[in-house]
Amino acid sequence: MPLDAAVTAGENPDELFRHGRRLNRLLRQATRHDLDDEARFTAIMDEAARSLGLNLLFLAEWDDIAGVRFRHVRLDGDPAALDGAVEEALRGLALASQEPLVLDDLARDPVGDGQVLRRETGMVFYAGVPVWSGDALAGVLGGLARCPPEGEGFAEADLAYLELVAGWLGHHLYQVRQRLLLERHALTDALTGLLNRRAAEGRLHEEMARARRHGESFAVALVDIDHFKRVNDRYGHAVGDQVLKVVSRRLEAGLRDDDWLARWGGEEFLIFLRDADVQEASYVMQRLTGHVKAQPIATQVGNIAITLSAGIGLPERDDADYHPALELADSCLYQAKSNGRDRVEAFDATATHWPVQVVKRALRDARVRVASQVIVDLQTGQPVADESLARVALPDGRLVSAGEFVEVAEGLGLMSEIDRYVTRQAMARCTANLSQGKVGKDFAHFVNLSPQFLARRDLVEEMLANAMSYCQSCNLDLGPVKPIVFEITERQFLSNLETLEADLKPLLDFGFRLALDDFGSGYSSFLYLARLPISYLKIEGWMVANMKQQRKIAAIVESLAGFARRENIITVAECIEDEETARILRDMGVHLGQGWYFGRPVLEENQY
Ligand code: GH3
Ligand code: MG
Ligand code: MG
Repeated sequence: MPLDAAVTAGENPDELFRHGRRLNRLLRQATRHDLDDEARFTAIMDEAARSLGLNLLFLAEWDDIAGVRFRHVRLDGDPAALDGAVEEALRGLALASQEPLVLDDLARDPVGDGQVLRRETGMVFYAGVPVWSGDALAGVLGGLARCPPEGEGFAEADLAYLELVAGWLGHHLYQVRQRLLLERHALTDALTGLLNRRAAEGRLHEEMARARRHGESFAVALVDIDHFKRVNDRYGHAVGDQVLKVVSRRLEAGLRDDDWLARWGGEEFLIFLRDADVQEASYVMQRLTGHVKAQPIATQVGNIAITLSAGIGLPERDDADYHPALELADSCLYQAKSNGRDRVEAFDATATHWPVQVVKRALRDARVRVASQVIVDLQTGQPVADESLARVALPDGRLVSAGEFVEVAEGLGLMSEIDRYVTRQAMARCTANLSQGKVGKDFAHFVNLSPQFLARRDLVEEMLANAMSYCQSCNLDLGPVKPIVFEITERQFLSNLETLEADLKPLLDFGFRLALDDFGSGYSSFLYLARLPISYLKIEGWMVANMKQQRKIAAIVESLAGFARRENIITVAECIEDEETARILRDMGVHLGQGWYFGRPVLEENQY
């Protein structure tokens, strides 16, 4: 234990003074706040080596993993790493110094390590004292010098000073170790020994920054045990825990070299897949989940078969953090569960169904575009109108069509904004086409209108104001009927008819007309037809597509066409894909047609 250095410095006042000064200097280094732990170690050791006239001072720290870990300061020569033979000899000396050990002449060291040091480094003198960290012997602090200390040699006060330094370093080691232990606890999941969620979040943050810096890619996968609750319910929590541990080990064993795994939640794991694209990530995850499933898990209550579901997400190029990738993985995991579990789902670039998350992001980023599809006169084959269709652009330019995002957009309350954009585009294009003489005054532009838009008085007024100024800029007398036709569908309008009529009135007063969309798909359309001033009736695509095969459907379409003609309503057949269907419809007296046969939706190049 450290002796009281000042007291053992003898009675000599000069000695006492020198001793007091070096203690002061040491204290100054030991209490520096501008240094981190490692730097403070070095500063204290450096000060001690100078004060004691040592050429090399080392701290050999016993380490469970590395055996002995060396920190050293060297006051002359190369401060870099100690070479192998020297380190080996120092280790020998350190092991011999678990009690204070002073060797005045290394050449006479009976063990031999001293002789090696003398030969390799030219050091002559050695003094070493044990370092205690808490109750445990943590290592040894040892010093070497080329010349033996002057005068009376290494005095008792010098040894006491060295022990004081050792005490300090031991105290620091203790603190550092405690902190590492705490950190490890805070970042490790106690049951599985995996990184916990907090640790995983920290690492993901680092990985994201790294990937951005190096232009690398990665994938994250969320893995969830299927029907895990049943395991707990049937066999108890302890067995559940056992299963969790085995699943962790199996996942861990199957990881690629640079990938890592964390326990993300109860029975959910996160896997980081370095440098992986969708294909690679899917392949790896199939393999991993297959590996877990391949063998039932042996527990104290017998074998338990387990399957996993997994979802994979990748960051997009301009993502600022890892959250979108994780959200994607989460919604793919959800998809995997709803597709029957025991499967891996990834956001596949070629998929026709986009995960909700992708659509949400595109909508939130307002990546709305307008495509238009031609509508022709079935008698002449001439284009007489078009329909504006909303699209949402993904970051890579691919487009999501309305059918896939309308529901999501409605859920997010974003439909009114989409309609606002599309109507403005349609009016702008209408004006441009008219003034450039591209189309005649009778050419109609169909635009879909959602109840969310109609319910927004402010947006409706804004649109009417826009319409007014477009009409004025047009320099054409359009008369009371304007070329914009709003499509409404009974599927969307759950409010009562009175409200709907009131909402639509300002639009009709302005001269816009109405088309009843998807006629034939629902049950209340006839009511709409009876009550609202409908100008166009759009015959639902399913009926058009099935008309050729099913006589009854053909008969319904024909009678609709007849009814509409008598009521001065113009009929439009949707989804015409071949010439024969077009001919049959024309013969039935349907006025207009729309569908791939005449033209697919085309993205408008000019987005106004
Ligand atoms: P699904 O296929 O939809 O994922 O069904 P599930 O039963 O696995 O999912 P659910 O999320 O309903 O249930 C998860 C269960 O996991 C409930 C919870 O008690 C259990 N669980 C979470 N953490 C632990 C744990 O540390 N030990 C044990 N034994 N069970 C856990
Ligand atoms: Mg589960
Ligand atoms: Mg779960």
